[in-house]
Amino acid sequence: MRADQINDSGETSYKFTHTIDGKAEGSDKTFGVINPATGAVFAQCPDASREQLERAVATARRAFKDWSRLSFAERRGYLHRLAAKVRERAEEIAAVITRELGKPLSNSIREMAGTAASLEQMANLEVKDEVMRDDGKNRITMSFRPMGVVGAIAPWNVPVALASHKIAQGLITGNTLVLKPSPYTPLSTLLVGEISREVLPPGVFNVIAGGNDLGQWITEHPGIDKISFTGSVATGKRVMASSAGTLKRVTLELGGNDPAIMLDDVDIDTMTAKIFGGAFANCGQICMAVKRVYVPEKMYEPVLESFAKLAGALRVGDGFEPDVQMGPLQNKMQYDKVLDVLEDTKRRPEARIVAGGNTLNRPGYFLQPTIIADLKDDARLVTEEQFGPILPVLKYKDLDDAIARANDTRMGLCASVWTNDKKRGAEIAARIEAGTVWINHHVGSEADVPFGGFKESGMGREHGVMGLQAYMEAQVINVPAA
Ligand code: NAD
Repeated sequence: MRADQINDSGETSYKFTHTIDGKAEGSDKTFGVINPATGAVFAQCPDASREQLERAVATARRAFKDWSRLSFAERRGYLHRLAAKVRERAEEIAAVITRELGKPLSNSIREMAGTAASLEQMANLEVKDEVMRDDGKNRITMSFRPMGVVGAIAPWNVPVALASHKIAQGLITGNTLVLKPSPYTPLSTLLVGEISREVLPPGVFNVIAGGNDLGQWITEHPGIDKISFTGSVATGKRVMASSAGTLKRVTLELGGNDPAIMLDDVDIDTMTAKIFGGAFANCGQICMAVKRVYVPEKMYEPVLESFAKLAGALRVGDGFEPDVQMGPLQNKMQYDKVLDVLEDTKRRPEARIVAGGNTLNRPGYFLQPTIIADLKDDARLVTEEQFGPILPVLKYKDLDDAIARANDTRMGLCASVWTNDKKRGAEIAARIEAGTVWINHHVGSEADVPFGGFKESGMGREHGVMGLQAYMEAQVINVPAA
């Protein structure tokens, strides 16, 4: 999709297509994709039928035979060529991300660079056989076999990068893929499918867009062997339930309510700036964003002041406007949900709005970056994943109490501890119930480091060799010596 295919109102008549069996396909039905900076539909997306899913699964099953026989090195070559093609069209896809998601164009360009890098870095990993025993009587090895067809279901908040993790892990391990992007941000991922037709053998990688019902059909489909799902806790539970009918292997990367615990030995302005970045990036719509901050009582007011300054200085607007640092919320449903949490917060007598607290007087789903002080622990803004630009800053007297409060949640994706004493920080980290705990930073994803959540934040791990193994079946081979 070129820039000259977009009119002055930002609309495009470009024909986005599914990728099935290496070919472009439209659908009889389409649905409108909304630009969250205007609230208006700017493009049409094909809406895959059940019959198209059937053909996507059938072609993926056929392609599995040859693809699964290739070596890691051969599959790596394909994925590196895909990464190179993605780089060639990165700017074009980044512009589509900003139009459908709203975030600043520079962030979308970064997402595309991350996408190409993830495709390469994950493809560079390899799962090797393990010798379990070799004692003269038996040689017992454990090998890992591709599973078959992976159904990959992605969310809207970082659409292409999160999909690329599933593409890379699914394909390098010898599986074939049917990928469904979110109906809120399907177009950028359809373009990745378009690119893949030039590089991958037909049927290996299929991308079909559609609504939530398409997601459910994928999870129920007997021709699909594994589900890799990233999305909300509520949907994750549904995915697990409907995958149970065929006992699919399931990896769930779900929501978070990440705490950041500040200790009393830090430089306030340095640390608040970093925590602020970890809370408000992508308009707070990141699974592993900072969602609650715990601050020692004696530093509370200066910390609030520092956060208020940062919030006041953040430039909010359409992601295509120059110098904008934060865009709108991505969709009306999320906007209404965040406003509902904000209204609930405002109704609480103890709540103090330190910065923001209002929508912007313009079309689209814009909200000021908002800092709330003095909330009690049972406030919805503290107990729920807000997934938006509102941050509760909570006071603590006793560190053990802060750790207990940080752990008092059904979620456990990530957390961070902020201190100049890294050893003390690591000791505290070990007491926090979360899949990743950072010291003095928050938000990040590494291709070779397992990522996933404790408790209701997920099931299993993605990334790293451990992540790849989750796309494979372990097979023991036991050979007697004699
Ligand atoms: P969502 O659960 O609403 O949707 C995710 C995907 O699931 C979409 O493609 C959707 O169409 C599909 N879907 C919806 N109903 C389905 C069903 N019944 N069966 C199968 N698929 C179905 O999530 P979202 O709003 O797109 O994403 C935001 C959530 O994702 C947040 O909670 C966020 O924390 C979480 N998230 C987690 C991670 C992680 O790595 N842990 C990363 C990003 C986002």
